[in-house]
Formats: sequence, C-alpha cells, structure tokens
Amino acid sequence: MQISSKILKSDTKVVVFDLDGTLYSKRGMVKHMMSAAPFDWRMMLIERSTRKQLKGIWTGDEGSFYHLYFSTMAHGHFFSEMYAKRWYETRYMPLMVKVLQKWYKPVQWLLPFLQQCREQGLRLVVLSDYGHTKEKIQALGLDESLFDWVISAPELGGLKPAPELMARVAATMGVLPQQCLLVGDREDTDGELAKSVNAPFYLVKQ
Ligand SMILES: [Mg+2]
Repeated sequence: MQISSKILKSDTKVVVFDLDGTLYSKRGMVKHMMSAAPFDWRMMLIERSTRKQLKGIWTGDEGSFYHLYFSTMAHGHFFSEMYAKRWYETRYMPLMVKVLQKWYKPVQWLLPFLQQCREQGLRLVVLSDYGHTKEKIQALGLDESLFDWVISAPELGGLKPAPELMARVAATMGVLPQQCLLVGDREDTDGELAKSVNAPFYLVKQ
C-alpha cells in the first residue's frame, strides 16, 4: 500500500506514527523471535497476555507503570517482579532489536511520506506501546532525527488506547489532540486512541 499527503487533514499539525506493524511490516516476527530464543517462549506468552490485560491502562508515570506491568507479569508465576523486569529489559527487548536489525526494513512509503509532511511544515512523532523505541528505530536503519519526538507509551505512564497519552503528546507538541493525525496498524489500540480524543486516524494495512 502507498500512503501520501492525501491522508492529511486541513488542520493537521502533527502526525503521530505507531511503530510495530506501521513503520515496518511485522510479517514473520513470531517465527523469527521463536527461532532466535526458543527457550523464552513461555515468558513471551506471559508478556503478551499481561499486555492484553493492561491494555488502555494509565498510571501517570513510567515508574509506576512498569511496577504494575512487571508485578502483573509475575503474579501467579514462578518468577519475581524483578526477574520479569530483568528479562524484559536485558533479554526480550534487545532480542527484538536484533531481529529487527537482521530481518526488517521500513515500509516503502515511509521516507517519501515523511518528506511530504516536512514540506508542509508538519511535525512528526513516533508513539509506541513497547520500550526500546529509539533502538528499534535505529535497528530499522532509520535516523531518529527524522522525527521530532520518539517516545513509548510506558515512558508516559500507560498503554494505548489511554486518552491521556494523546493529551500528553499534543500538549508537548503545543497543539490540540484533534490537530494530530494518528497513523497505525491496529483499530483496537491506535484507532481507539484517536477516537478517545476525537483525533483523525489512518489505518495502515500491510
Ligand atoms: Mg502496531
């Protein structure tokens, strides 16, 4: 699919991109992750179900978010909150960065579209639900300076589609949430986030 400046609204001032599945196609990700770390599958499943359970949560800051996140991961399992934190930070996220570096490239429409946005004076943000956002951008071969702000939802204190996330992004950029166009691959997280603050949304199809 191709995305061009036609998707911009007349009052768009900021374009907010999701990362995974939006800036690159996630096709084959599970297979690549499993073959890179076959003994981590159980932790990966627990992480995934924790993410589902806490979808849309808002705690207000990074520290309390991650405390809730890792304690939820550990709850009812054989490992501690500290173990979950260590695994996520020193194993899971670095692994994802490595897999991205080895197998993935940005979608073809990205660089021309960023250029078109720049020509129209728009500012550009990446808002991801996962951590290590800057490392992942670099692993895709992209320069972080293509964007004005690269941030993760957990760093702000929540997960999509918590409306506070968009309020924070818009306030930081000095615009109204309705002046931000969200571009993402998921209706239930990116789309709902846009809807929650009455901002326009463009669904990326891989
Ligand atoms: Mg996504």
